[in-house]
Amino acid sequence: MAGLIKREDIDEVRQRTDIKEVVDGYVTLKGAGLGSFKGLCPFHDERSPSFTVRPQVGRYHCFGCGEDGDVISFVQKLDHTSFHEAVEKLAARIGFELRYEDGGSGPNREDVGRRQRLLDAHKVADEFFRAQLLTPGATEGRNFLHDRGFDRAAADQFGVGYAPQGWDSLLKHLRGRGFTDPELKLTGMFSEGGRGIYDRFRGRLIWPIRDIAGDTIGFGARKLYEDDQGPKYLNTPETALYKKSQVLYGIDLAKRNIAKDRQIVVVEGYTDVMACHLAGITTAVATCGTAFGTEHIKIARRLLSDDGSGGEVIFTFDGDAAGQKAALRAFEEDQRFVAQTYVAVEPNGADPCELRQSKGDAAVRDLIATRRPLFEFAIRATLKRHNLDTVEGRIAALRESAPVVAQIRDAGIRPAYARELSGWLGMP
Ligand SMILES: [Zn+2]
Repeated sequence: MAGLIKREDIDEVRQRTDIKEVVDGYVTLKGAGLGSFKGLCPFHDERSPSFTVRPQVGRYHCFGCGEDGDVISFVQKLDHTSFHEAVEKLAARIGFELRYEDGGSGPNREDVGRRQRLLDAHKVADEFFRAQLLTPGATEGRNFLHDRGFDRAAADQFGVGYAPQGWDSLLKHLRGRGFTDPELKLTGMFSEGGRGIYDRFRGRLIWPIRDIAGDTIGFGARKLYEDDQGPKYLNTPETALYKKSQVLYGIDLAKRNIAKDRQIVVVEGYTDVMACHLAGITTAVATCGTAFGTEHIKIARRLLSDDGSGGEVIFTFDGDAAGQKAALRAFEEDQRFVAQTYVAVEPNGADPCELRQSKGDAAVRDLIATRRPLFEFAIRATLKRHNLDTVEGRIAALRESAPVVAQIRDAGIRPAYARELSGWLGMP
């Protein structure tokens, strides 16, 4: 059943949609007078906002890169979807039922609804996992949460669920809801063997991973049973919805506060995000099975809207070697970003979740309050590898840390760190 969306319906959706509300889900906008709004352009990398939205005329324009269009092309470009998928998404958003021309030579109707079907499957799976957490079979899952200081309300707030043991619980449930196997294969929720597809997540605690608009696009799953041969954490693989280089767990809950407080806290795991939010650090997010990379930086910057007036990015690495490595890697990223980057490390190496359990909410807030600039952290991490009590040790430390200081591109900050370094080394 091929068909094009009726022309007048497309116009109707475009007209009824507030472009500012849609853009708001991706970019922090500020009033710029005469009914227009400004923010950092989502299409090119910039520091001062040249991306303008004019709700009266329903259009956006970037004075930096020239990107220009209406709400449909905006969704198309940012969600990487076809024109039809974008119209369908926007129609669904305002509860508008689209009509299709019969026999048109347009894109396949199946294709058009693919993204929506994927989202629907995730929604059904999300509800399924959550309901499972309350069943007798999920005792281990509930114990895991309880042991880490999360009660029922916390589990609800973050939508934590449970994937039953066995091979086909979710598979049967989704088939029962009318999803076909070819559709299910695209969701990333199933593995494929000789005898067809089976549940990817089995006997695990489940965190729904949502996009910035709040739609569930994947899952993170924690191992619970000793006999589970799989990795401790298992995530959705790359799908049409789930791109791990762009996904930030908690972004849907944190985005407003990140924009308002001009701060983003990057932690390492799902339970750390939960602990931070419950402790009052509502700007916390985590990457899912990957390092904080260039794509994440773009998202963070867009939300912080760092138009010169600052905004902080705070990493909470644990004190171990892996954390320091991650810090030094971040150091190699774009330095305009690094200049606003801080590191908060708990002296005993506790992560936010452990800290909240052992010392309470205030200790988590204190951890974030004791953040140090990433430059300082990176230099000190280098010094730690040497014995500064001996002349030889101090010379070796200087040899290794001087290049780190030399890498600081900001000529205003570099000499200050050079002075700090000689202070830390106790040599002129
Ligand atoms: Zn632009």
